[in-house]
Amino acid sequence: MELDRPLGHAIDEAARRVLPGGVNSATRQVGAPYAFTAADGAYVSDADGHRYLDYHAAFGAVLLGHNHPAVRQAVLTALDGVDLMGLGVTPIEVELAELACELIPSAEMMITTMSGSEATVQAVRLARAVTGRSLLVKFQGCYHGWGDALARNVISKPESAYGRDPLSAGLLDSAVDATLIAEFNDLDSVRALFESHPEQIAAVFLEPIPHNVGALVPTQEFVEGLRELTRQQGALLVFDEVITGFRHALGGYQQVCGVQPDLTAFGKAMANGFPTAGLAGPRELMERFAADVLLAGTFNGHPVAAHAAIATMRHLRDNPDFYLRTHRLGQRLRDGLGEITAELDVDATVSGFGGVFVLYFGTGPVSGYRDLMRNDHAAYAAFHRRMTGKGFLMLPMALKRNHVSGAHTDADIDLTLEAARDVLKEMRAD
Ligand code: PMP
Repeated sequence: MELDRPLGHAIDEAARRVLPGGVNSATRQVGAPYAFTAADGAYVSDADGHRYLDYHAAFGAVLLGHNHPAVRQAVLTALDGVDLMGLGVTPIEVELAELACELIPSAEMMITTMSGSEATVQAVRLARAVTGRSLLVKFQGCYHGWGDALARNVISKPESAYGRDPLSAGLLDSAVDATLIAEFNDLDSVRALFESHPEQIAAVFLEPIPHNVGALVPTQEFVEGLRELTRQQGALLVFDEVITGFRHALGGYQQVCGVQPDLTAFGKAMANGFPTAGLAGPRELMERFAADVLLAGTFNGHPVAAHAAIATMRHLRDNPDFYLRTHRLGQRLRDGLGEITAELDVDATVSGFGGVFVLYFGTGPVSGYRDLMRNDHAAYAAFHRRMTGKGFLMLPMALKRNHVSGAHTDADIDLTLEAARDVLKEMRAD
């Protein structure tokens, strides 16, 4: 078929007629049009047959690689069983919660939701119910989903949908104002909020590594200090491990740092691309969902996603090399990008953790949100555009991260570094 323009553009145009903005989630618009039609392992293809090495990984949901055989088989098995009941429980939901509680250090019980946002909304309600307090604390730059309560101070630099603060129109001022903002890696900023709002703060929400602004790595004193402070002040500490969970370690970042939160939200990588998420915590708190805190959802614990989640977790548990390998490949990318930017004298800082890597265009070190204000978004946009042109798919927003999956190989890393060197040279020549 002869086309006078790329098929992707035609699909994008059709999409804009029936989907607001042509997409089903705000941040998918950035850098569009993209119309993907196939995904396998570390590679994805668009409607025009372009093949990309995928570091976007559906914002990190794809951890083992696309279309992973174990997950695929589990989903096929699910189709032979109950599709959906909405009465009682299916054995697979029990198995999923048991496995999660076995793997996650702070989990004694878990509820299963459809998305990370639902898990954090539930955490907000539970924290308020348990403490009888209304205020929340979150950190500047962090994202905890689309729920009203936490939808502020996500990113203050204008880029994509995240240029707004709060993130959406239509929120009650009272919902937004009940959330106080602290600075990541700055315990004093949290202490000050507890001092100015005594006995009013229900919970502190933390992305243990704020991957929604790339990768700010917490100091050990910060996470330990938060644990101690929240305990002293009678507030809950909630880890939002929607990105870090299962990605950085089987037990999430709480296993890495050895600090146990009261509640933990999981999602994304939990089912390697299938829609499920969870909120876990001690029995004493979680039992409130059987008492006076509403837990409801037609699709909660959906058998297809539950089978996919179990297959993902089992694969990770039974292949301890998985983390060694993805972390090694992540380190190769970080080291390689560091060497290339130094050699070409590019004002850049490489960050990341495990299989996650980030290239900030600005002088380091980058340890708190204020450091991110030095980032040159235009330089990242140029880097991103050129890398995409060479077949490397990365997150289009300047302050986000990129992900190595279980399907990436050393040869993929070589190709990526080679392309990055060429792109940075081209950018310098412009
Ligand atoms: N928390 C964090 C840390 C996230 O990154 C996200 C999604 N980007 C969410 C919560 C919300 O998850 P979901 O998109 O599945 O609702």
